[in-house]
Amino acid sequence: MPGEPLNVPPALASNFYLPSDRVYSRSEGTETAVAFETLMAGLEGGKALAFASGMAAAAAVLHRVPVGSVVAVPEDPYHGVNGLVEEAEALGRFSALRLDMADTAAWQGAALEADVLWLESPANPLITVADLPAICSAPRKPGTVVAVDSTFATPLAQRPLELGADVVMHSATKFIGGHSDLLAGVLATNDMDLYDELHHRRLLNGATIGGLEAFLAIRGARTLALRMERSQENAQILAERLSTHPEIARVRYPGLLADENHAVAMSFMDSFGAMMSFETTGSGERANAVCQRTELINHATSLGGVESTMERRASIVGQERIPPTLIRFSVGCENVEDLWTDLANALTSTRD
Ligand SMILES: *Cc1c(COP(=O)(O)O)cnc(C)c1O
Repeated sequence: MPGEPLNVPPALASNFYLPSDRVYSRSEGTETAVAFETLMAGLEGGKALAFASGMAAAAAVLHRVPVGSVVAVPEDPYHGVNGLVEEAEALGRFSALRLDMADTAAWQGAALEADVLWLESPANPLITVADLPAICSAPRKPGTVVAVDSTFATPLAQRPLELGADVVMHSATKFIGGHSDLLAGVLATNDMDLYDELHHRRLLNGATIGGLEAFLAIRGARTLALRMERSQENAQILAERLSTHPEIARVRYPGLLADENHAVAMSFMDSFGAMMSFETTGSGERANAVCQRTELINHATSLGGVESTMERRASIVGQERIPPTLIRFSVGCENVEDLWTDLANALTSTRD
């Protein structure tokens, strides 16, 4: 409309004049939150719900099942999700089946038994790619919900709802927001009964996204495609160079021809994302030193920002199964030669 702003301004409001369809922000969200949901529904399909964080979105899915349910999860899910699952098991709420992300037959079998399949692909931090088309389309027990944490892929690399998943989850804190300045989560689903149920859980849990976060998430998402194009291109170049570097024992990136996930990723993903991990030669201490020595690449835990970040994952509590020198690398939008110089210097200066 002439005279209206091009962007959706931040609506910072909790309470609204009655009578109205919008009564209270915890229930309906603000105009800005709804604009972010509309944007995410456009990217993923279905109908979207925005949450205060990725964990709030994950909890809405995992806490909806009745006591005694069976929930299938990856052996090493995102550590926050792992915490939710361990707590639910300890409280006797549900039992978990822990499956290897790469074992497609095990997931297909679980679809006939479990009440929820919680997939994460590409998975943190080994960058394992699940065969989503084969798992999401497998015959299921009536009522089984298949959920996919698609945070590492973004909707530009894969769209799980089109492959048969019931619900897709994002930590919009990561690539969707893209600027390390907000916490937000998203669920999208085609199943309107499930949508109503998840909307109700969000209301009861008080897990609705804030107005300012919704504004920032939209602002970030406007450049999602540009940022992903650049950071994926950088990731491919750096993964190739690292894989022939003498100080590197192993690189995991689905875009590499030699990667064990390359074929399955090629079969359904539109691109390979900007997350990789690599193992240095030497000890965990050496890998720590590499993370501390880089000057352009930030030593930080989170991911998906315009700026590159890396972290030795085994240094995080509860990650003992991770190879000791494995560094998770979120490739940003910097100049690729600057990134390479930084990495190569850090590797050379920490050599034994
Ligand atoms: C960060 C992350 C989450 C949790 O999201 P928050 O926004 O931190 O609550 C869940 N899954 C994956 C894969 C993540 O990277």
